Amino acid sequence: EPVAIVCVGMAGSGKTTFMQRINAHLHGQRDPPYVINLDPAVLNVPFESNIDIRDSVNYKEVMKQYNLGPNGGILTALNLFSTKVDQILKLLEKRTGPDPENPDKKPTKNILVDTPGQIEAFVWSASGQILLESLASSFPTVVAYIIDTPRTASTSTFMSNMLYACSILYKTKLPMILVFNKTDVKDASFAKEWMTDYDAFQAALSQDEAANAFGGVEGEGSGSGYMSSLLNSMSMMLEEFYAHLSVVGVSSMTGAGVDDFFAAVKDKAEEFKRDYRSELERKR
Ligand code: GDP
Ligand code: MG
Repeated sequence: EPVAIVCVGMAGSGKTTFMQRINAHLHGQRDPPYVINLDPAVLNVPFESNIDIRDSVNYKEVMKQYNLGPNGGILTALNLFSTKVDQILKLLEKRTGPDPENPDKKPTKNILVDTPGQIEAFVWSASGQILLESLASSFPTVVAYIIDTPRTASTSTFMSNMLYACSILYKTKLPMILVFNKTDVKDASFAKEWMTDYDAFQAALSQDEAANAFGGVEGEGSGSGYMSSLLNSMSMMLEEFYAHLSVVGVSSMTGAGVDDFFAAVKDKAEEFKRDYRSELERKR
């Protein structure tokens, strides 16, 4: 049974580059994935995709026709595309199942999904929800939340990113892997430490405070103010969230960490079958 891997993350976190990397990795293992691009506004897709939203909706035309800006254009393109979800699922089931004309062909084990650069267009839209739920009702589905590691190295950006990931977990209700990308620029060990060692995060917090990381007014530093106590209580809340995640560091540039990622996918797919599927079936 194939696993669907849906890549989400902030614009510029490296979703598309990561897709390119894991796609190449699977091809290298002679295990070609089924690839779906859901970003209507991307100019160049650096990998061969089997389904491309740009083939069925012309984002520029949608903008013109409905008199929309770029964000409205992306959203409307996704809406138009999501009306075809039944056809897409049929196609997916056909392509990932056994091929009657070619019984020797290995079945596809991975479905890779790239999403629009702006995360909210997919995660917080009705059509994004429909597409995700439809995928998850047919295949074990995991969310790969891609993080720009060098840009999340201060305690405050780290915390914001973790809270965002937490809200996506809550929204999608699917197993999630945190992918700390761009480790060629900045190693992800600091993040793993902050997620597993509460004292280490506290220490980093006080250090950032000392350096006045929030740029507070003199005498209104975060050390004594609400910021420090807010971050403290949020980090306690996040401990519970971290317990449900797999965390990997990768470089989409060099390919480092890609094996760890697929090991995490295997874990999370098992988790999906064990915990999530029964929940989905109960709801139906
Ligand atoms: P997306 O908007 O999330 O799809 O991000 P892209 O895949 O388009 O990447 C945004 C930028 O980050 C591009 O300039 C990429 O070359 C760069 N990038 C992506 N992954 C890596 C990485 O692992 N290392 C480095 N150094 N740059 C990366
Ligand atoms: Mg992209």
